Amino acid sequence: MSKQSQATVTLTINEKPITVPEGTTILHACQQVGIQVPTLCHLEGVCSNASCGICAVEVKGAKNLIRSCVQAVSPNMDITTSNARIIRARRTIIELLLANHPNDCLSCVRSGTCELQALAEQMGVLSKKFPRTKKPGKQDFAGWGIMRDNDKCILCGRCVSVCREVQSVSAIDFAGRGIRTRITPFLDQPLSESSCVNCGQCTVVCPTGALTERDETDQVFDAIYNKELTVIVQTAPAIRASIGEALGMPAGSLVTGQMAAALRRLGFDSVFDTQFTADLTIMEEGSELLQRLKNGGTLPMMTSCSPGWISFIETFYPKLLPHLSTCKSPQQMFGSLAKSYWAEKTGIDPSKLVVVSIMPCTAKKFEAKRPEMRDAWEWWKKKGRKDAPFFDVDFALTTRELARMIRRAGIDFAHLPEEQFDDPLGRSTGAAVIFGATGGVMEAAVRTAYELVTGSALPNLELKAVRGFDGIRSATLDVGGTPLKVGVAHTLKNARVLLDEIASGKSDYAFVEIMTCPGGCLGGGGQPVNPTWEKREERRQAIYTEDRGLPLRKSHQNPAVQDLYKEFLGEPLGHESHHLLHTKYSARRV
Ligand code: SF4
Ligand code: SF4
Ligand code: SF4
Repeated sequence: MSKQSQATVTLTINEKPITVPEGTTILHACQQVGIQVPTLCHLEGVCSNASCGICAVEVKGAKNLIRSCVQAVSPNMDITTSNARIIRARRTIIELLLANHPNDCLSCVRSGTCELQALAEQMGVLSKKFPRTKKPGKQDFAGWGIMRDNDKCILCGRCVSVCREVQSVSAIDFAGRGIRTRITPFLDQPLSESSCVNCGQCTVVCPTGALTERDETDQVFDAIYNKELTVIVQTAPAIRASIGEALGMPAGSLVTGQMAAALRRLGFDSVFDTQFTADLTIMEEGSELLQRLKNGGTLPMMTSCSPGWISFIETFYPKLLPHLSTCKSPQQMFGSLAKSYWAEKTGIDPSKLVVVSIMPCTAKKFEAKRPEMRDAWEWWKKKGRKDAPFFDVDFALTTRELARMIRRAGIDFAHLPEEQFDDPLGRSTGAAVIFGATGGVMEAAVRTAYELVTGSALPNLELKAVRGFDGIRSATLDVGGTPLKVGVAHTLKNARVLLDEIASGKSDYAFVEIMTCPGGCLGGGGQPVNPTWEKREERRQAIYTEDRGLPLRKSHQNPAVQDLYKEFLGEPLGHESHHLLHTKYSARRV
């Protein structure tokens, strides 16, 4: 049915008439007249299970209050969204939730961003009215990426829906009945022993502090205050488009210079940019693709910079692992280079060098602790050093953790002057910043690969066909007379579609980019909580604005990367690159 001919319904909300398309929920109709009906379980586009009941409204003629998130409007409905009865019902729901809640807001990581806390305040809940009826929920703090505190869980089901519907992982679900109902992995195993890929999407939609990243801010402050250590930091592309938002600025605030200044004021000895190794990734990954095309290697080649995606393919599609590029993620390339090349160049003892990453991602925490990610230590061992084993990256913090550090240090972020990153590991191009958006790695790779193959510049640098938020996008490029079909997917549910195509032998792609999270890193599991597509779009625009404003927009133009090859690596896919910048994957059993 065309939009023009779509049936409509006319109704009244708080005595105001409104006409909306047939099938619209009361919740959405209310939004159209500027009324935000509160909910704790609804998740736009993902789940409406009506479990919390907070969104109840009064419909004239109906005996009971109606849950507005699941009830469609009907002609002549007369709806009231706020009166004494409605407020009393909403308040009672909050009071019942708080009866079985620890109420330790003062020491909760979500204090200030907690939807339950905000609603309790909004509904005027000023005391604990009902006694506890449930045993305290269990805590699961075993994993590197995600921590669970079931005592703070209000059983809204958002995490279950996002894990199943957006990521197709289903690592967690409801278990038990009545007062024993709980959210848990299969057989009440720790999350770290389940199929969870640490994507963190459950942590950004959880309305409370029941699901959070493992907080490592205290350890990073301890390292900074330890005079014997040199502590350096790298920031992923997407952080410059989200740290301002995490500190109360509008979504999409682009704060690259203030972020560099804030990191210096926190006490980091050098402030570098993961975009340097994003450019390097393009050199290595582009060369690997050309080599596979030339030598009949496994195609399509798939990108490897999103660690939740790596865990996903290792867990669910191990037979397809040869399709993955062997390139490490830019985070890990940075760590191994910082503790080998840069430590040697500056004369810093690598065992006293601490590498901190600021990432939009909880899976980066897990990635940094993969046992094989100690290549700088291996490199020094071959040179005769006898250090205790150390990781390439010591701490991977999320955007939210960096915001906490900035607040804790009392830094007035909004009024900081803009500063530059340090050289040489802080230099980058526009191709590197677009790594932060879905399709960005592909676009950056095409900008370089086209030029390397044809010897001439790409006619239009902006590859619009792979931009945007459609789940799967594709383009066929003419590279020196050879057609090259490329594909892009974001979220693991969409990745599964492409993987199934490859497994069935029906895929005609040469190169595929997969990003774990909705929108790519800009929608990562370590980003500000309560994301919406509007906020993701604002972050996306900020990223492309940064690209357009940079003097160099192709990775192979990065002078610091060119110097790195001249001074140290030799050539892409060379001996040193092989040991420091590439890795292996293995089937993951759960
Ligand atoms: S989850 Fe929310 S309400 Fe519960 S302790 Fe944390 S901040 Fe307070
Ligand atoms: S981190 Fe991702 S995979 Fe793990 S439970 Fe949460 S949503 Fe599921
Ligand atoms: S863990 Fe969070 S998102 Fe999941 S059901 Fe509990 S409160 Fe809701």
